[in-house]
Amino acid sequence: MGSGSTQRAVKPLFSQQEIEEKTHALAAKIASEEPSPLIIVAIKKGGVPFAELLASALTVQGLTVEVATLGLSSYGKGTTSSGNVSLTQDLSTEIRGVQVILVDDILETGKTLSFAWDHVLTKGATDVKTCVLLDKPHKSRTREADYVGFACPDLFVVGFGLDLAGRYRDLPFVGVLED
Ligand code: 5GP
Ligand code: MG
Repeated sequence: MGSGSTQRAVKPLFSQQEIEEKTHALAAKIASEEPSPLIIVAIKKGGVPFAELLASALTVQGLTVEVATLGLSSYGKGTTSSGNVSLTQDLSTEIRGVQVILVDDILETGKTLSFAWDHVLTKGATDVKTCVLLDKPHKSRTREADYVGFACPDLFVVGFGLDLAGRYRDLPFVGVLED
């Protein structure tokens, strides 16, 4: 048997339809508050599916958006953060003089968004906002998100970009691993 046999079942927490509806609602809010054009900086790899859905929802709202990527890593292969954020791929686009929205899958300690925030400012972004699909409670946050999809229970979640050692990222919904 291949390694596929070790795949665990995933209990859905946020369905594909809920994620889509929420993202369209967020896009309407962003469009009412932010000028166009915008560059969305998707934090790779987990933030990419949400960033792409958000970009398409913003386009529906009539905003001109471009999606750039920034590769950051803090979880390694486990289910708890190492606490050390490292750069795995620099920005894919020049952002000097541009308004940026940083987009990630989930916010926990805020270290990932803080690192990305400092990085895009160093690269010359004029204004930086933050948007996450999920907000997991944490007592000592280094940065909050301006736009949040859902409050997430304090569990390790997978799907819609969120992985466990590279797996489950492509699930179209967010859920928790069954034992
Ligand atoms: P922070 O830096 O805010 O502590 O954590 C955010 C990053 O940790 C996210 O970009 C994500 O990569 C990872 N992360 C936090 N919680 C979870 C989780 O429940 N599941 C997965 N797969 N990744 C998580
Ligand atoms: Mg991440």
